[in-house]
Amino acid sequence: MTNSLFNRANKLLSILEQHGFKAYIVGGAVRDSLMGRPVGDIDIATSASPAEVQSIFEKVIPVGIEHGTVIVRFDGESFEVTTFRVDGDYTDFRHPDHVLFVADIKEDLARRDFTINAMAMDKDGLVIDPFMGHQDIQLKLLRTVGKPKLRFEEDPLRMMRAIRFVSQLGFEMEATTFQALVDDISWIEKIAIERVTTEIKKMFEGINLTNGIELLIRSKAINYIPVLKENHQLERLLINNPKPLHSFTEIIATLHLLDRSISVDHWVKHWKLSNEVKRNATTLVQSITYYMEKRLDQWLVYRLPENLVSSFIRVLTWMVTDIDKKAINDQVVCMRKQLPIANLKHLAITGNEIVALKASLEKGPWINTCIAEIEKQVVCGNLPNCKNALREWVEAWSPPEIN
Ligand code: ATP
Ligand code: MG
Repeated sequence: MTNSLFNRANKLLSILEQHGFKAYIVGGAVRDSLMGRPVGDIDIATSASPAEVQSIFEKVIPVGIEHGTVIVRFDGESFEVTTFRVDGDYTDFRHPDHVLFVADIKEDLARRDFTINAMAMDKDGLVIDPFMGHQDIQLKLLRTVGKPKLRFEEDPLRMMRAIRFVSQLGFEMEATTFQALVDDISWIEKIAIERVTTEIKKMFEGINLTNGIELLIRSKAINYIPVLKENHQLERLLINNPKPLHSFTEIIATLHLLDRSISVDHWVKHWKLSNEVKRNATTLVQSITYYMEKRLDQWLVYRLPENLVSSFIRVLTWMVTDIDKKAINDQVVCMRKQLPIANLKHLAITGNEIVALKASLEKGPWINTCIAEIEKQVVCGNLPNCKNALREWVEAWSPPEIN
């Protein structure tokens, strides 16, 4: 898969070269391929201007022309193609105020954040590496291109990127880079929260999450990140056996479970996350809370959507030591297969039938109470899901208010 992605990217480079331009694979894809890590997407840098790229390829989406970036749809894949450039000032801490197109790839590489991200690879696999990024990969060292203090002040997001690379790649931070991070960490307060939390999400996915979290604490970055800064107890709790988490849903659920004084809503609001994250994180919290009290049963499995099972297990590893992830997953799969119903629609009785059976009662909230009780009894295997049995049960049932 990755190889074919590289083959396609190389074809794209050849086409640009045939038109007289220079073109390279750059950034994360070069780093990851040299490290033998899976490559997610491939970025390309070229001497061609966005207009020239548009004239060469059929499907070009102008996503950031002012910064020299277009997306080229090529051979069924999307490639971000950016004209060689250097950045102007960053007065809004988000984007450079202006960019300047340049002719030489080396100038373009010099604007990049870390040496390991500042390499380019041509279509024959030849690596251009003016800042010794390959050597830093071998030394497992994260080092800024140029003076760290300058580079961090220019764009404080690089500090959050540094923390997540430590977690993702398991690298050490080079001493002056670390010192500048500590000295200037308060600058991260100026970055848009969405950009900070994206890096935090990538940090939580890291295989060296413990190092990432320790760095977050040691550098005091934690003091400048919304919500994390509100509760210093988290500093202690965060080192509580961290295992990689794979989404905001999992992160928010975990952070809430570790410190219940901060609600899921509060995290979602201040980190500007979506309603879907809120919904799923709430479901996860309910499921984990239920598990801590009652362990795995049909009712838990029924209410835990299939697409949240792996999240449930990952969050559980933070709460319970020594759990057998595979055994729990197998158990959930097996119990789900044996559930008498998969959802309410499968109940052998409808709301209308219940109302008809209870003709003496005025319609009201009791209907939902009754359905909910039937649902639970059926799911837990206390009541067979057949019409006669359910009718009998309803006839004998009376609403709690009347009791
Ligand atoms: P990922 O694996 O998360 O995609 P990445 O290094 O590819 O990591 P991207 O955000 O995709 O990160 O950026 C692509 C490249 O652009 C980086 O490798 C780096 O060379 C450069 N870059 C990204 N963000 C910055 C920044 N804030 N300052 C300087 N260079 C940056
Ligand atoms: Mg990338």
